[in-house]
Amino acid sequence: MNFMLHLNTNFSRVSKRYFSTAKLNSAKHSCKVLVVGGGTGGCATAAKLSKVLKKNELIILEPSHNHYYQPLFTLVGGGISTLSDARKNTKDVLPKNAVWLQDKAAEFSPNSNSVVTEKGDVIQYDFLLVATGLQTDYDKIPGLVEALKGDTGVCSNYSDKYVETTYKSLQNFKEGNAIFTYPNTPVKCPGAPQKICYLTDHYLRKVGKRDKANVIYNTSLAVIFGVKKYADALWKVCEGRNINVNLRTNLIEIKPDKKEAIFQNLDKPHEVTTFQYSMLHVTPPMSTPPALRECRDLTNEAGFVDVDKLTLQSTKFANVFAIGDCSSSPNSKTAAAAAAQCQVIFKNLQAVMEAKPPTANYDGYASCPLVTGYNKCILAEFDYNLTPLETFPFSQDKEMHSMYFLKKTLMPPLYWNLMLNGLWNGPAMVRNLMHFKFN
Ligand SMILES: Cc1cc2nc3c(=O)[nH]c(=O)nc-3n(C[C@H](O)[C@H](O)[C@H](O)COP(=O)(O)OP(=O)(O)OC[C@H]3O[C@@H](n4cnc5c(N)ncnc54)[C@H](O)[C@@H]3O)c2cc1C
Repeated sequence: MNFMLHLNTNFSRVSKRYFSTAKLNSAKHSCKVLVVGGGTGGCATAAKLSKVLKKNELIILEPSHNHYYQPLFTLVGGGISTLSDARKNTKDVLPKNAVWLQDKAAEFSPNSNSVVTEKGDVIQYDFLLVATGLQTDYDKIPGLVEALKGDTGVCSNYSDKYVETTYKSLQNFKEGNAIFTYPNTPVKCPGAPQKICYLTDHYLRKVGKRDKANVIYNTSLAVIFGVKKYADALWKVCEGRNINVNLRTNLIEIKPDKKEAIFQNLDKPHEVTTFQYSMLHVTPPMSTPPALRECRDLTNEAGFVDVDKLTLQSTKFANVFAIGDCSSSPNSKTAAAAAAQCQVIFKNLQAVMEAKPPTANYDGYASCPLVTGYNKCILAEFDYNLTPLETFPFSQDKEMHSMYFLKKTLMPPLYWNLMLNGLWNGPAMVRNLMHFKFN
């Protein structure tokens, strides 16, 4: 790879077609580091960078006024937390020592080190961090968007727009099938589609309606969870609570007028089954944003930014890195993973800025607090090899009150106060201390 080739800051190299699509009042910007996406990974890494760069050297391109701590959406859906607990103003979480452009990347051009925004601005960068996350494609399931309007029993924790429909559906449930889905695409937090299933089971037991409900978890995956240790524990939870699990079963259509959900057997695609539902929690298909997918120089076949899984540097452009859900690194897409990645990227970006090779490596760490009830949680933690990488000096494949307390009470302030200020790199240090002490 010709490293210097891609560190050009000269505006004259910006492709002419950008200017032809730019609107009349569009502006030109330039910076040392451009962060595209100011969500979990973008904000956390920008906070670190803002401590070593001058204000005008760091631009964050982020369209939304709101920053959501999405891991709390599971608890919002369960009626435990509110949507406002999960929200802060973007302006209050992004680092003050950076320029925030409230706009969206519309076109990436890594060959000329530039990004064109939806408003037509052109941003020239020396180094790029892509942090756009995954978008939720509710419109890809016929009938779903329509079904999510009003009190229809159809709900979804996966969007700030719909997450409040879940607790309403729980409260309105009388009897019948309560169905939970997992789509046939990569998703953020692969544990979340089943967490809400366990919360529903517990809720219905608390209000004395469980015997009137048939709780069903229909997942496109061939396993209940990717890591065997936790999958074994989750099968026991499902068996103990009479939750029916159907593997390789993918939601393809909803008929809201008839309260019917149609599923396809992914192993026998001609085989479709119609389920009646009283409650239907949908985890929608997901994809990277179109602007990214369309930039084939940066992305792989599936539309994810092609990176080296250890250094998180683009496989084609030495001055480009990607963090979080939009990256091709084959870890479980979680905020916990982004926390571990941001320190690796920060170190590697600094190295590359000094024309040194990137040497920090990401081990694939991800964690998933599998909430299994209103006071219980199994804290799954693992690496690229799907080998458990547990923080605590006891086996974490048990439902524990302490892990629920961690998820509900400790993790939100850790996120807002430490991670978004660039001060949390995941629990590796705590894990080392714990295991040094007790092993
Ligand atoms: C219901 C639910 C439960 C979850 N539970 C957990 C959990 O328990 N533990 C855990 O660790 N993780 C959990 N997650 C996953 C976690 O929230 C994500 O993995 C994490 O937020 C990923 O960070 P990110 O920076 O990659 O993406 P995001 O935080 O989604 O940020 C992406 C940002 O990019 C912006 N953007 C999008 N397109 C563009 C564009 N074209 N130009 C500029 N900006 C753009 C968006 O506005 C957004 O702000 C959960 C998620 C959900 C939805």
